[in-house]
Amino acid sequence: MNPKGILLVVSGPSGAGKGTLCQALLEKFDDLQCSVSMTTRKPRPGEIDGESYHFVDKEEFLQRIDNGEFLEWARVYDNYYGTTWEQVRNIIDKGKNIILEIDMQGAMQVKKVFDSGVFIFVIPPSRDVLEERIINRGTEDAGAAKKRLGNLNNELAYINNYNYLIINDSLDKAVKELESIYIAEKCRPHRSIKYWKG
Ligand code: 5GP
Repeated sequence: MNPKGILLVVSGPSGAGKGTLCQALLEKFDDLQCSVSMTTRKPRPGEIDGESYHFVDKEEFLQRIDNGEFLEWARVYDNYYGTTWEQVRNIIDKGKNIILEIDMQGAMQVKKVFDSGVFIFVIPPSRDVLEERIINRGTEDAGAAKKRLGNLNNELAYINNYNYLIINDSLDKAVKELESIYIAEKCRPHRSIKYWKG
């Protein structure tokens, strides 16, 4: 399947800075919209239902899987996360480009459906920095933080399935790289030809 617009997928280990990067891109380009995922994870302080995520219980999530409502879903760190077709359609129907911030298992499912998607992997400059970020972020208890760090090698194994790799050592540089990828993708002939006045 090939949507008319661009479908960006951003993945990377927890603490790599994906959220901040995606936010920066969304602030800069109003032709781009982020899909709001559904999750069974409990909201963190400050997270708003319908904006950060659609928060649902496990029973509802499993029912929606059975109903075939998800473009992709995955179980990540004991919680379910997924992108509903409804979310994707709403954005595509508005003629906007779409960005999904999802884990690697989900990204591989999206790749099977949208082979023209642009897959971007974000990593921190080192394991030590990742550890520091997860601990300083303080959103996970020690057990959950350890689990996230322990999963790093499995996650890194996915890198070669992606089109781009951003090493997020300086936020400014990483944002610039993400913007450059987005702009370059817009300039692909099949997308930019429609702007030619003839
Ligand atoms: P967090 O709990 O920190 O918000 O997210 C944990 C992980 O779940 C992150 O790697 C995030 O990218 C991923 N995630 C968030 N939403 C989705 C989704 O809709 N689908 C999948 N597969 N992963 C998601």
